[in-house]
Formats: sequence, C-alpha cells, structure tokens
Amino acid sequence: MARIVFMNIPAQGHTNPTLAVVKELVRRSDTVIYYSFTKFQAAIESTGAEFRSYDQELPIDPDNPDPNLVRYATELLETAQILVPQLLPRVVAEKPDAIIHDSLCAWGLIIARSLKLPSICSISTFAITPRVAVTSFRDAWDFGAMMLESASDLVRFFRIGAAMRREYGFAQAVPPEMYSNYADKNIIYTSAELQPYSASFPPHFCFVGASIEEIPPESNFAQSDFPLPDAHQCLIYISLGTLFNNNLPFYKMCVEALSGVNARVIMSIGKKIAVQDLGALPPNVSAYSFVPQLEVLRKSDVFITHGGMNSVHEALWFGVPTVIVPQAADQKFVSKRLDALGAGIRIAKDEVNAERLRNAVEKILATPSYKEVSATLGDTLRKAGGAQKAAAEIQEFIAARIRS
Ligand code: UDP
Repeated sequence: MARIVFMNIPAQGHTNPTLAVVKELVRRSDTVIYYSFTKFQAAIESTGAEFRSYDQELPIDPDNPDPNLVRYATELLETAQILVPQLLPRVVAEKPDAIIHDSLCAWGLIIARSLKLPSICSISTFAITPRVAVTSFRDAWDFGAMMLESASDLVRFFRIGAAMRREYGFAQAVPPEMYSNYADKNIIYTSAELQPYSASFPPHFCFVGASIEEIPPESNFAQSDFPLPDAHQCLIYISLGTLFNNNLPFYKMCVEALSGVNARVIMSIGKKIAVQDLGALPPNVSAYSFVPQLEVLRKSDVFITHGGMNSVHEALWFGVPTVIVPQAADQKFVSKRLDALGAGIRIAKDEVNAERLRNAVEKILATPSYKEVSATLGDTLRKAGGAQKAAAEIQEFIAARIRS
C-alpha cells in the first residue's frame, strides 16, 4: 500500500497510456496523487487517483510544442526551473514512497533525486538507449541542424542547468536528456517487438505494451453522429493528433486525394482550425474537430496519421494499417519503424501530395500483408502484459526499495 506521486505534462498522448496503470495501482490499494492540468482532471479522477493541479503559464506550450527539439528542450528545463521550487514542498507534504514521472518531466526526476526518493519513468514514446540514439538522432531528430539554428537556446540551456545543479545537486546535462529522463525503473507502453533495438535495453526498462480499451472517450460524440460506410465501401480515417494538427493544406490535400474514392472518409482536424475552413466537402468526406478515435479506428480499413505513438498503437491494436506523414518530434522515427516492419507506408512531409496519398491508400487496400502485420503487432501490444504488468513491476520495485 504505497503512496505514489505521479507527475505528467498536460498532453493527451502522454496521459492516455498512464490511466489504466494508475487505475490498476489504485485497485491494488496504492494511493496515487496525480499532478497535471485541470483539463485532465476528470480522466485522472476516473482512475481513483487524487488529482492535484499545477495549471499555470509555463515556458512550454503543451498544445503547440516547439518543433525545434533543442529550443523545446530548453523550454522544458526552464519549466523545471519554475516548477521544482513550487513542487518540492508540496511533494514533501504528500510523504510519498516513490515518484512516477513522464519521460519529459525533468522536474519529476530532479525532485526524486533531490529528495532521494525511488523514481519510475513513464514512457509513452519509443525509448532511447545509445544504440537507438544513433539512428533516431540521425534519421529523425536532426539534432545537429537544430543546434545550429538555436545556438542561443543552447547557451541558455547550459546556464539554467548549471544553476539547477548548484541548487538541487542534479540537472539534465544536454538537450537530448530532456526527452529521456529515465529513472531507477522505466515503464514503456509499447512491445519489445515494436521498439527498435529492444534487445539493447537493460532489465530496468520494462515493455508493458498498451491498454487501449481502458482509455475513456474524450468527447460527447455519439457513434450515430458519424456516417459509416456502406457494405461495399471501406472506411478511411485521417488525423494529425492533438498537437501538430494546425495544417489546413494537408486536410485539403486529403479531400482532393480521396473525394473520388469508393470509401467513407472521416477526418479529425483538431481544434485549431474550423471545419468550415475546409470549404464544401464531397459527400463521402466528413470532418470534425475531435472524434472518439478508438471507436472510429475499430471500424477503419486505413488510417492516415502523423505517426504519434498513441495513434500508431491504437491503429495496431485494431489491426489497422497506416499511411504515415510525420510532422515533428519522434514521428519520423516511428514512421520509419512501421514502414520497415510492413505495417504502413511512410510519406515524408515535404514529399506528400494528393496523388501519393491516394496511391498509398490504394496500395494498402490491395495488399493484405499490411493488415496482417498490423494485427500481429497489435497482438504483441496486447500480450506484453499491459496495465497489470506495469502495476506489478512498479509495486515490486517500490517494495524492494522500501525494504533496502
Ligand atoms: N485523439 C482522439 N480523437 C481525435 C484525435 C486524437 O481521441 O480526434 C486521441 C488519440 O486517440 C490519441 C491521442 O489523442 O490517444 C493523440 O496522441 P498521439 O500520441 O497519437 O499524438 P499527439 O496528439 O501527442 O501528437
């Protein structure tokens, strides 16, 4: 019966995979005190956790993360500089046995180190070891170019880091560490089969797969609100997720690509663009600002996605092959992995056009192996143990630390 403080960033993709784990910890009689922003309060409280708000203006904009990962890393460290002194006394007052923090929550790791508390990292993306870094930095993150573009941020990063090390005895040393605040125990919500180079991970990294069905629907959208395909039609779902979705030209390109295709098309365009901005839509295309993605994916034949880790997991869970047009962050890396495994087709952001999109969709529909590989990977996510394994690993780790 441990007391656990959980800290997350206020982002859908980082919060959703944690909910089933927290619910399972609470079911096993642990007390979980979950720090996040109020917009996630209802979802967090539905797990049985106690919610604590740290809503405020922060250097990071959780809804519009900076695509330059050096600048974003500096904003994350500045955020830590603001949050650590605020949260330290609050955490001390909670008297926790351990801290679980998201892999982007540098402040969680700094507080755990400063209070000498056992720390557990919650990882909602692919995890990065030195072996993975060689590929991901070269192929996806392009860190070198970003560093040149943001030299002044880099100077700021090292200055803040030095100040925090003086104050708290620990701070992340270089920008890439801001994306991999790994802890004494690390829970990764993917399967070893999907994670690149999983054999290179030490034993304190634990692959628990996904717990997709546990994710609560986030909208009032009734199933009857969206038109389903006729018996002879397929369903194509399109979404760029909740962050990098301010992309009207992309949605218009999708409409152009799919207006003549014998399929129903459902587009989730996010809340930064109005549906009317798309203009008149062809009869087979419907657009919404947000949909219950799991319900739509369950019935979909192809998913055109940005390659956000949650969207990819959810697609695989239902055996839905993907056309991936990565927008930013780790999405290039994720899209390359799915393409290489044969679960989807990757189209680079600067190479995508209506014809390429249509060809990719048609190729996937005509080639059964995309669906088969997606379903097989979905099974690996199911069989990795899910929330129960994650909770068991967390409890065992905390119990061992309390005993020692
Ligand atoms: N999502 C949803 N409805 C939408 C769009 C997105 O429920 O209309 C959910 C989706 O199911 C996923 C999350 O938002 O769980 C997006 O996370 P992801 O990691 O795919 O992308 P991000 O938004 O972090 O870029």
